[in-house]
Amino acid sequence: MSLANRILTCAIRTNYIRNHGSRSACYIHKSFQHAPSISLYRDSRFNFARNLSSQSSDEKIHTIIRETEKPVGSSNKHEFQAETRMLLDIVARSLYSENEVFVRELISNASDALEKFRYTIHTAGENEKNYENQDRALEIHIGTDKQGMQLIIQDTGIGMTEEELINNLGTIARSGSKHFLEQIKEKGAAVQNSSNIIGQFGVGFYSAFMVADRVDVYTKSSKVGSPGLRWSSDGSGSYEIQEAENVAYGTKIVIHLKPECREYADEDRIRAVIKKYSNFVGSSIYLNGKQANVIQPVWLMEPKDVTLEQHTEFYRFIGNTFDAPRFVLHYKTDVPLSIRALLYFPEGKPGLFEMSRDADIGVALYTRKILIQSKTANLLPKWLRFVKGVVDSEDIPLNLSRELLQNSGLIKKLSTVLTSRVLRYLQDRAVKQPADYEAFYKEYGLFLKEGIVTTQDQTEREEIAKLLRYESSKSPDTKISLSEYCSRVGLEQKVIYYLCAPSRVLAESSPYYEALKKKDVEVLFCYEPHDEIVLMQLGMFNGKNVTSAEKEMRQDNADVSDLGEGSLRKSEIDEIVPWIKEKLSGKVSDVKITNRLDSHPCVITVDEMGAARHFIRTQSHQMPEANRYALLQPQFEINPRHTIIKKLHKLKTSDPELGELLTRQLFVNAMVAAGLAEDPRTLLNNMNELLSKALEKH
Ligand code: ADP
Ligand code: MG
Repeated sequence: MSLANRILTCAIRTNYIRNHGSRSACYIHKSFQHAPSISLYRDSRFNFARNLSSQSSDEKIHTIIRETEKPVGSSNKHEFQAETRMLLDIVARSLYSENEVFVRELISNASDALEKFRYTIHTAGENEKNYENQDRALEIHIGTDKQGMQLIIQDTGIGMTEEELINNLGTIARSGSKHFLEQIKEKGAAVQNSSNIIGQFGVGFYSAFMVADRVDVYTKSSKVGSPGLRWSSDGSGSYEIQEAENVAYGTKIVIHLKPECREYADEDRIRAVIKKYSNFVGSSIYLNGKQANVIQPVWLMEPKDVTLEQHTEFYRFIGNTFDAPRFVLHYKTDVPLSIRALLYFPEGKPGLFEMSRDADIGVALYTRKILIQSKTANLLPKWLRFVKGVVDSEDIPLNLSRELLQNSGLIKKLSTVLTSRVLRYLQDRAVKQPADYEAFYKEYGLFLKEGIVTTQDQTEREEIAKLLRYESSKSPDTKISLSEYCSRVGLEQKVIYYLCAPSRVLAESSPYYEALKKKDVEVLFCYEPHDEIVLMQLGMFNGKNVTSAEKEMRQDNADVSDLGEGSLRKSEIDEIVPWIKEKLSGKVSDVKITNRLDSHPCVITVDEMGAARHFIRTQSHQMPEANRYALLQPQFEINPRHTIIKKLHKLKTSDPELGELLTRQLFVNAMVAAGLAEDPRTLLNNMNELLSKALEKH
């Protein structure tokens, strides 16, 4: 078996054991026998709840932290190099935005030390005899001491020799972990195992000096014959190294807190920090003897191995919620980026807060199980803010302080990859779980529409549009997708028609639909006011223009020379059109004849009806009426076959006053039919005048 394969097998086994608590014969298992609560995720929520509720009395205390170390002999004083001193100052003063992250850094180091020990023993082969105390449990212990103002972090990992202490802790920006990985790679070993190692910059350790007056490190390497050592520094110019007795294998870091940082000697505070950043670290973390991290990094498990209960539990944990996920998208890929993603679509309705565009993204970014940011802006587009979950990527460029480079091209790329995966997933749900999808669409369709309106990318827009569902003139009871519409109308029809109206009844009786209906053209009916903005923004789908029935009408030019039976004649039209135009001056930009109406005497068309209606709804009330018309440029289109229009032509000479009232009324009616009347009450004044005039002779 190649070394690469061995490491892979080891990694798989390790995970397997973590997930299933197996105890078959393998060296790793021994260590886990001592760490029972790491093995079963299933119970973890209860463990977790118990851990948080100040622990029940029957819980066993398990700690390895003891004050046994005794420095012996003389100590050697070492000066930090000049650059190290400078860097140290930066790390301690200004690198990290929040000082609580030192806990994350030290736990990460402890976890790295355990991984290195696992790896070293597993690959030692004949050199196995060179390492002592191989069967120990691999754990991280944290102790808080309020009185002593101390925080202690101890691991049973690889430990350090004197040389390593000098190299790794004496020189800032020299990462022993990175060096370790490079060595593995040089040996040609696989990279799989490396994903468990967190360190890379060689500065994390010094973050302890943000909160510490002094840091003591007791360490003992497993290499045969290594003495126990004590490293100590106040983080200014120098550090001391001295041998010490009774040092346990591994590393123990004692942080003497600055008075203003005494909060880190508080158990609850530390537990919260562990939960926030290091909850998914691969080894057990005990805080004052009680397990503090118990949730498995479910996203790193094989998707098929995760049960629904596990998902629900994990979803509730990360989403801080009590509902369950309705859909789960769990996948991993290495191309074009390494991504482990676990995304949940909530079962509950979106809350008011989520509806707001100010809400945060619900997805946290991890790399190598360590939290980088819990609500990572730009990781997904805003319109997907209802999605909850975790994304873990080793390819994320972090800066020294492990804070995210928000605007890096890679985050953009990651977001694009994730978004298209989410879209494909939802498209799939629509096919495979139509009823569930319909329920989802009902509650979250609005977010998809927001996506269409806000994205800058037409391809993405069309991908989102595949998720839209509308009734159509030919499908009264079921909603169809745009793709279905396209396949129904065939290739010859180059346009997708839609009509926005408050209800089906109004859509069916709309003057704008009349002509298309006559030609038996299928039209999508949308009943939400925002739909027309969405479809207008979409513009194209599948190579077809997405056009409103109203716009189609506006663009149509009637052939006035052939108006057929029962119509006003050309000469009559030439008289009536300018007359109407004059009577409606300041209101309409043009008056035209249309051939498309049947039962309606006239319509108003504007360039973009959707935008116009949006404008009327949102802004027009602040504007004088005349300006409003100047902006909308309404076109008044009359049906020369309609009785009212024919009558109007007569009135023009027989009773011009009544003719004018009628014209104005027709205009107002048409504005109402177009959904452009700001307030239908404006109808009434003119209407009453018209009625009194019409009734005068009776
Ligand atoms: P990084 O973790 O990025 O390598 P750090 O400053 O956090 O940088 O740590 C520097 C180095 O010190 C590590 O690479 C590792 O070699 C060593 N080290 C730190 N903490 C421990 C520990 N608990 N056990 C063993 N070695 C450690
Ligand atoms: Mg580190």
